[in-house]
Amino acid sequence: MTAAERLAEITGRIAEACRRAGRDPREVELLAVSKTFPPAAVRELAEAGQLLFGENRVQEAEPKIAALPARLRWHLVGHLQRNKVRRALPLFEAFHGVDSLRLARELADTAAELGLFPRIYLEVNVAGEETKFGFRPADLRAAWPELLEMPRLEIQGLMAIPPPAEDPRDARRWFVALQDLRDRLAQDGGVSLPGLSMGMSADFEVAVEEGSTLVRVGTALFGGRRRAEESDELAP
Ligand SMILES: *Cc1c(COP(=O)(O)O)cnc(C)c1O
Repeated sequence: MTAAERLAEITGRIAEACRRAGRDPREVELLAVSKTFPPAAVRELAEAGQLLFGENRVQEAEPKIAALPARLRWHLVGHLQRNKVRRALPLFEAFHGVDSLRLARELADTAAELGLFPRIYLEVNVAGEETKFGFRPADLRAAWPELLEMPRLEIQGLMAIPPPAEDPRDARRWFVALQDLRDRLAQDGGVSLPGLSMGMSADFEVAVEEGSTLVRVGTALFGGRRRAEESDELAP
């Protein structure tokens, strides 16, 4: 399959999932996660019409972004170390791995210095897994008032990576849990919190059925990725 065919296939599956759930496909953005794939692969997808891309490491993203057309838009999907915030802020329009108050403060303070207003998704460890990044739901509710006081951060909503599962339908309860938490935070804060960054290659259709507004799809769009590179990004 060509890049254009893979893109059409994924877009079609998103539209089908929307149809099943009675949603408008325009409510769901597709983030093409290009980590580990070379600039040439990104360029092919861009030529097929995909302009929104995601990377999970600042070091890898920096030269890739520089090598590609400026009209592409980039999100950081992975864990961000505080000492990389200053380098990362000018590269990405959104950050999906904001998983602690300390990181949020660092982003807010540095964004103020640089004159930026980054969009962020708060990462939630929905299943309370020991090995995963993200706020525990109760900790996020406790941190919420302070997060709302950070005017530099445009908080879009929540992001989660559910526990690995054989059957993508097993992820459904975690997507529902993320949506419930989002609704509760929106109510507690009296704010609208529209974004739900959830769904990857294996489970994006289930995520769309459960309200995802942004799916992060890598391998299904780009083809296979080497195991060793894949294994170290979800755990601390
Ligand atoms: C790698 C990655 C993805 C994409 O994963 P695929 O299974 O290749 O679709 C999505 N989100 C995050 C946070 C990732 O690190």
